Amino acid sequence: MSTDDIFVYRFEEGHARGDGSQKDLLGGKGAGLAEMARLGMPVPPGMTLTTEACRSYLEHGFFPEGLEMQVRQGIAWLEKTTGRGFGDVNNPLLLSVRSGAARSMPGMMDTVLNLGLSEDSVEGLARQSGDRRFAYDCLRRFVQMYTSVVMGVDDAVLEEVLVRHRRRAGVDDDHELGWEELFAISEAMRQKAVEVTGRDVPRGPFGQLWGAVEAVFRSWEAPRARAYRKLHQMSGGGWGTAVNIMVMVFGNLGDESASGVAFSRNPATGEARPYGEYMIATQGEDVVGGRRSPGPLGMNEEQHGGMAAMERLMPEQYAELCGYMEDLERNYHDMQDVEFCVERGKLWMLQTRAAKRTGQAAVRVALEMCEEGMIDEEEAILRVDPKLHLERALHRQIAGSPPDAIARGQAASPGAASGEIVLSSERAVERANDGESVILVRPMTAADDVEGLHAAAGVLTAQGGLTSHAAVVARGIGTPCVCGVGALRIDEDEGGIYLGETFFKEGDRITIDGGSGEVFGEALELKDPTITGELKTFLELADRYRRLEVRVNVDSGEEAELAREMGAEGVGLCRTEHMILESREAVRAMRQVLLSTDWEMREQGLEELVNYQRQEIAQILRAMDGLPVMVRLLDPPAHEFLPGTPAGRKSVAEVLGISEEAVGWRVDALRETNPMLGFRGGRLAMVYPQIYEAQVQAIVEASRQVQDEGVRTRVEIAIPMVADPGEAGHLIAVINDAVARHLYGLSREADVAVGVMVEVPRAALLAGELALEADFFSFGTNDLTQLMWGMSRDDASRFIEAYRDQGVLTEDPFEILDRAGVGLLMRQALKQGRMVYPQLAAGVCGEHAGEPNSIRFFEALNLDYVSVSPYRVASARLAAAQAFVREEQAARSGEAWRGGLAPMRRQSNGD
Ligand code: PEP
Ligand code: MG
Repeated sequence: MSTDDIFVYRFEEGHARGDGSQKDLLGGKGAGLAEMARLGMPVPPGMTLTTEACRSYLEHGFFPEGLEMQVRQGIAWLEKTTGRGFGDVNNPLLLSVRSGAARSMPGMMDTVLNLGLSEDSVEGLARQSGDRRFAYDCLRRFVQMYTSVVMGVDDAVLEEVLVRHRRRAGVDDDHELGWEELFAISEAMRQKAVEVTGRDVPRGPFGQLWGAVEAVFRSWEAPRARAYRKLHQMSGGGWGTAVNIMVMVFGNLGDESASGVAFSRNPATGEARPYGEYMIATQGEDVVGGRRSPGPLGMNEEQHGGMAAMERLMPEQYAELCGYMEDLERNYHDMQDVEFCVERGKLWMLQTRAAKRTGQAAVRVALEMCEEGMIDEEEAILRVDPKLHLERALHRQIAGSPPDAIARGQAASPGAASGEIVLSSERAVERANDGESVILVRPMTAADDVEGLHAAAGVLTAQGGLTSHAAVVARGIGTPCVCGVGALRIDEDEGGIYLGETFFKEGDRITIDGGSGEVFGEALELKDPTITGELKTFLELADRYRRLEVRVNVDSGEEAELAREMGAEGVGLCRTEHMILESREAVRAMRQVLLSTDWEMREQGLEELVNYQRQEIAQILRAMDGLPVMVRLLDPPAHEFLPGTPAGRKSVAEVLGISEEAVGWRVDALRETNPMLGFRGGRLAMVYPQIYEAQVQAIVEASRQVQDEGVRTRVEIAIPMVADPGEAGHLIAVINDAVARHLYGLSREADVAVGVMVEVPRAALLAGELALEADFFSFGTNDLTQLMWGMSRDDASRFIEAYRDQGVLTEDPFEILDRAGVGLLMRQALKQGRMVYPQLAAGVCGEHAGEPNSIRFFEALNLDYVSVSPYRVASARLAAAQAFVREEQAARSGEAWRGGLAPMRRQSNGD
């Protein structure tokens, strides 16, 4: 880097829209401020230190050459603009120093306000403002933030100082403290910092400034920021945060001042009306900190007994704010979330960014903006996040009519959740890892709770409004949340909570409804979501832009019915071994087949399996009524069906009526060193073809049965774990023979297709030969990933973490398809297969099939369908539409997609 590098931009110099957006360089906040300044909105003067400066600092441990000089020039300009002096004891210029990465990480990184103030200049500020209490309030805030953020003094220690002084003064709230007490508090905090760190808070303004800038840069690497990026799949290094240095404006300058946050539309429902919260005589962190309950923006939101609305108390500023939000929406073509401040009657805009919203709001805003002509249909489809807004936010509801609520709070993030009460984030993570559904109950949450918030099924807080940390994060990740519950008291000593008079200990079960704000003192039954209203309209719009078919992986008729309601267009995988595992009787029959030594008993077991599977498959066929249904023949790691302990063997021996010794002998004979690479899939039928023949019988008979009821059928039979074309040919012949034996009477269109799972790398490599035998390919990307990486899919998460922590891998290949490796093989296999057999149908049914980045790849690959778990059908419909739109856009702009491979063009658009 040279001294010519520009690390500092004044707000007027940047911009945030269109192709030339400087978001990566200036961070989201810096770019937003620049854009507002450009639009002529009242933004306090300031400048942004670039993310490039941060990266350089993090790499070398010191500021890049030229940075300090450019900042000093910027400060001189601010002094000139404001007529104040940085460090001037009579007329001090105060600054806010705030972080702002390219992608928003709400509340994750650091901020220092009121910087430039010291014991020397506080009296100057008092004179300048004519308000001594205000000046000392600023000093207290500055010392507290500086010692915490920059010097690393524990927040709890500082809070203790505050509490002690409040108690001594006999008041409950900080705003009741007089200037003398505020001064005493800042002195005591400073003293604490000296005790803890051996250093004093710098009095000189530049000493303060460099310390704050370094702290903000370093906060990029703080554990909580790393955890946030990991949870949100924001890849590791290389980005950094910008730093925004802005002239302080004061929302705490008496009753004509206020600070607040506002949304251009309602972030919970999407209603097109400004929505927000504000507090008179405060600075920004008071509103978002959730310590006190704020008032609403508009009069329509006023609650009896609560703080009056801004619209009532500050009508002019309210109207001005609404006007700016409208302008910002028109400028960005998206719903905005702004921070503002009123200083003695003058409105200042402090931040704007695309608003985080619930799934319901995302869908409504996209549809309405499309109707308003602000965005086109393609853009509307891209506006809703399949994972965040649909998959996680297609929320469960309370089934039936609920009992009376035991408490009520703010409906902060929709959906119902029921589970065990946990009082800490650590406990939430621990119990969630044990497979428990948990409700995290806290007085309020902070950035350190991020992992607990992700682990919890629901969040309940005693304090805070709709813009409190808990509410914002919960909405962002689609977790139900009720906050600001007045009747909730957490009693750490007793290890539980009071909801009104009733005590619940940690571990007791409750239910919350984040759509109504109600809390219930028991675990209520929840029901799955349905697709109706705006969501239905939106998904139908997306469907018009979709080429990939979306099928579902189901193991029962019930699941198939639910999936149809979600819009599934067929079954892409029915795991018959899972079907067996769901019934005790069927498991017993399966054990009889595997463990009995005499042939007659085995045949009897097989017959029972045929009967059971015939019924289940018939139900699935009924639910799908003419849509394709792929049934996969048995692929059991055999050990899943065998008793593992002596007691288990004893009981199985009793149930089957054979000797314990015989059971032991068979279990030993079937024991495998590595079951995942053992007696699975087609290998089973190489040894026991009768098993597959029996399954084919069940499938064909089920088809005939439902056809007699007038149901149409389209059946596909797949063989799992095939490794060799000869093996495939042999097994397909076995199956075709069995089909022919049982087929008579089936109508023409019920012809059964027989294909293979492509999930062993060798099969993929020999796909050309395989396609000579098979009617279709179904890519099993779970096994394909496991076998190509040589990593057990059940254990990989243990070591993949280490790869991700060290930035070697940015994605977990078991979650997001490894396009470079597994994807390359899939592409080659498909190409070879279709060269031999151009009509070869091909889909994917591993877990990746429902993951949006992977779907983008499957679209480019020209697969026919993805087959996903039932709860992902709706999100996969959207992700597939988005993949199509993006592919079209890439083609229109002549740019090949950069997702790992150049895309292959589609053959048809599926209209
Ligand atoms: C796969 O391997 O991707 C697959 C769908 O099969 P299973 O998960 O049942 O092994
Ligand atoms: Mg598999």
